[in-house]
Amino acid sequence: MRPVIVGCSVAAICWFIMFSPWSAPNVNFWGMMVGATGLLAAYALLNGRGKLRELYAFHPKWIGTGILSAALLYVVFFIGDRISASLFDFAPTQIAGIYGTKSQASPAAIGPLLLLWIGPAEEIFWRGFVQRRLSEKFGTMKGFLIACAIYAGIHVWAFNVMLFMAALVCGLFWGWMFLRFKSVWPSLISHAVWDLTIFILLPIREPHHKGIIMKAIVLYEHGGLDKLTYKTDFPEPAIGPDDVLVNVKATGVNRVDLVVRSGYPGITIPMPHIPGGDIAGVVAKIGPGVKGFSEGDRVVAWPLIACGTCALCKEGKENLCLNWKYFGMHRHGGYAEYVAVPAASLLKLPDQVSFEQAVTLGIAGLTAYHGIHSVGELKKGEVFMIWGGSGGVGTIAVQLAKLAGATVIATAGKDEKLSAVKKLGADHVFNHHKEDVQAEVMKLFPVGVDMIIDYVGPATFAKSHAMLKKGGRMLLCGILTGRETTLSIHLTYLRHLSIKGLYLGTKDEMRELISLTAQKKINPLVGKSFPLVDAARAQEMMASGENLGKLVLTV
Ligand SMILES: [Zn+2]
Repeated sequence: MRPVIVGCSVAAICWFIMFSPWSAPNVNFWGMMVGATGLLAAYALLNGRGKLRELYAFHPKWIGTGILSAALLYVVFFIGDRISASLFDFAPTQIAGIYGTKSQASPAAIGPLLLLWIGPAEEIFWRGFVQRRLSEKFGTMKGFLIACAIYAGIHVWAFNVMLFMAALVCGLFWGWMFLRFKSVWPSLISHAVWDLTIFILLPIREPHHKGIIMKAIVLYEHGGLDKLTYKTDFPEPAIGPDDVLVNVKATGVNRVDLVVRSGYPGITIPMPHIPGGDIAGVVAKIGPGVKGFSEGDRVVAWPLIACGTCALCKEGKENLCLNWKYFGMHRHGGYAEYVAVPAASLLKLPDQVSFEQAVTLGIAGLTAYHGIHSVGELKKGEVFMIWGGSGGVGTIAVQLAKLAGATVIATAGKDEKLSAVKKLGADHVFNHHKEDVQAEVMKLFPVGVDMIIDYVGPATFAKSHAMLKKGGRMLLCGILTGRETTLSIHLTYLRHLSIKGLYLGTKDEMRELISLTAQKKINPLVGKSFPLVDAARAQEMMASGENLGKLVLTV
């Protein structure tokens, strides 16, 4: 009696760890291994080691039988999967996703372990012990059916009805095999090959939009570059009724990503967190309430999410929404294979604009466009200046200012970048590390500059202020060198200066940027593309300021 109690307790605890819906996601893989070991231990305790040997009694034909049976199961499952997917938009392959999502290791790593360990352990315990004992007690057929019911019941308690169905069919089949061959070998091999198939082949065959897993760069805590964790089994995002699931093709690397990584003052970043405010890709799935988008559409996200109900949204100023949210800050961003985007924040992308170009138009492009047109109202014939004309904002601002008919001054930190900025249309370029920019600009334009975009901050603020023409305007949109500075109130009013802040822009402005790019009126400069796995290298490059043009991650 004692071994029975001990054995059943061990098995129960192990099963609880394996499949408990309340256990932490990363516990489950190791829980499965512990569970499988526990089942074998329980079997040995319940039956004695002699029975274990007897159960394994080998006959060559059973290997073939087992593999053939698994192949047959797979065909049945494959057909069922297709029918279910077409009728209910739900594929039983999600079962594989549930395991994959809950485990820390990738399906490919789990597969061989399943083949060698977990499937066989389950067979020995369920068929070898549970079914055999039940049959001894209640008769062969009754014992077989009760064992199947328990086996299936445990699966539905753990996960969902589809897993229950699969466990029911598989349990009946394997239980029958055990009866037929009077050995656990055929069902054991069949079960193992079957597990291997669903854990490896199905996720490979159905890699997307079936609620499985995805690649992503994930932050679990704030810190340095090493906190950017590359995951291949992060749960794919669920979408709400008004959301679109975007299969990300490219995402931009922005200064704000570095701030989010190290900790954003005043904003709590929900962890685990996927960074990335710029998102371009293809629609993979749409929520039932979404109109105007369908699967396969090329899209780019407006980087903000506006509430649509606050006072400013009602005035039509969605970019000033009081309850604004930002991708890669308040919610998951684009450093992943998939991201859920509210349809209201999504724009169609014409074929003429590449995904990599598209991600330059969000954060960087909007800042430049909104600054030059809506906030600064740059006019033909005016003198425009930007500090740092070679980065994401700078390269677009130079082109937009030129397009507006202004005379353009830009700076860069390296001589080779100066020629690139000149090629984009800048009339005067200066190396801000080597030259006295303020003196050079005042030599060229003794009355000063009409408008300056300054995202550098305290290091350039006083110079920008001094270079402005009477009545000139300075636009602030960054804090590269700090968050505070001092300002001469006296000189500001005496010289009629405007100092304005801006943060991103509107959806219509982004549409206009997309259209300008499609018509080749501007050419967004993609400096360097990195694969997603190299996000840390891309952020390192951004921090060093080495980049010319926009840094992009491709997924
Ligand atoms: Zn709002």
